[in-house]
Amino acid sequence: MLPQKLKDMFRSRTIRWLTNPGGRVSKVCSRRNYRVLAIETSCDDTCVAIIDRKSRQEPPVLLAHLKETLDSEKHGGIVPTKAHLHHQIKVGSLVQQALRQTSSEHSIDLVCVTRGPGMPGSLSGGLDFAKGLAVAWDKPLVGVHHMLGHLLISRMHTNGSSPRYPFVSLLVSGGHTIFVHSKSISEHEILCNTIDIAIGDSLDKCAREIGIKGNMIAKNMEKFINENLEEAQSQTVDMSLPNPLRNQNGRMNVQAFSFAPFLTAVRTAMAKNKMQKCTKETRSMAYQIQEALFEHLITKLKLVISLRPDIFECTRHLVCSGGVGANRRLQQKLRDELSFQFQEFHYPEPSLCTDNAVMIGWAGIEIFENLGIKTELGVTPVKKWPLSDLLNVPGWIST
Ligand code: AMP
Ligand code: ZN
Repeated sequence: MLPQKLKDMFRSRTIRWLTNPGGRVSKVCSRRNYRVLAIETSCDDTCVAIIDRKSRQEPPVLLAHLKETLDSEKHGGIVPTKAHLHHQIKVGSLVQQALRQTSSEHSIDLVCVTRGPGMPGSLSGGLDFAKGLAVAWDKPLVGVHHMLGHLLISRMHTNGSSPRYPFVSLLVSGGHTIFVHSKSISEHEILCNTIDIAIGDSLDKCAREIGIKGNMIAKNMEKFINENLEEAQSQTVDMSLPNPLRNQNGRMNVQAFSFAPFLTAVRTAMAKNKMQKCTKETRSMAYQIQEALFEHLITKLKLVISLRPDIFECTRHLVCSGGVGANRRLQQKLRDELSFQFQEFHYPEPSLCTDNAVMIGWAGIEIFENLGIKTELGVTPVKKWPLSDLLNVPGWIST
């Protein structure tokens, strides 16, 4: 495998397609209408979707969108072996349900599945199943990068407001916090990444410390804050939360996020004040936690914008996606504080922000149509897969 050679091959193929749309394309691509089955199992959600790609000129039609989330509340977090088992139990019946309810048992033309990054046990639950279907139906398989799914989903509904290259994406989820610059479907530069845990992980853990319960705890925390915003903003407790990696003497302009210190600070505040969990002060604490983490995000985005004029002089579209991207307060803060830089803010609807199979189907369609590539049947999960190395993994083949 010669990655650079392969990249050049794909690039020239893309250009050939763009300049010669009537040229040689795969059987599936050349059809006007084709149907896609998508599977996502990178973490604790088993997700299945069926999408109709009627033509390149119109947005695809979503026919089925199913999800079964592992209940990890009693374990205090996701246990990889339990997640692996969950996918094995759920994926078959969910695919069967999606196929039956859309009468697609004999009409899938393309199988898209998450190949990485993520927990290998979880990924293999979906990947192995998808390979089997691709063989049985004799249809192409596309192994999709999970974060590319989050990044491209805003482009699915082309109602005139889809992000145009070059654009930047803030991808904020339970496992990732990255700020990415995208010049094309295959050219991505990570501008800022977390040096410890992801923002969703930190929000969930901080929320659990103050007594909020549930599976998606940060989502519950947002709801809890909004139930009584006045009380939440009352500042009844002073949590003294940090803004990590700030410019200080000897440490300037660190282009990275850090979310672990928030958890330490919340634990310290809880111990110092000997607080009962779930008291009336909880809402004030929840508000401060959410504000502090979002403030840190925005501080770092502003820093990156100021340090990279080469990128931001001509980048006016911002995408915010991933589970935390569904948070209304974050969306509002991004608009309020970054409108000096961005003209368009793209926020996918909440069900497409959290992990889902629709984004995997859509990213697979974009890869298949625009890069003219698919995935070999011998591929294995990719645990760590930088978005900047999208094509730099074995297993891509020309369609
Ligand atoms: P993902 O990994 O993309 O599925 O996102 C899951 C993460 O997003 C979890 O940490 C959730 O708690 C978090 N999340 C989901 N909805 C919200 C919300 N409305 N506000 C803040 N965090 C959220
Ligand atoms: Zn995700």
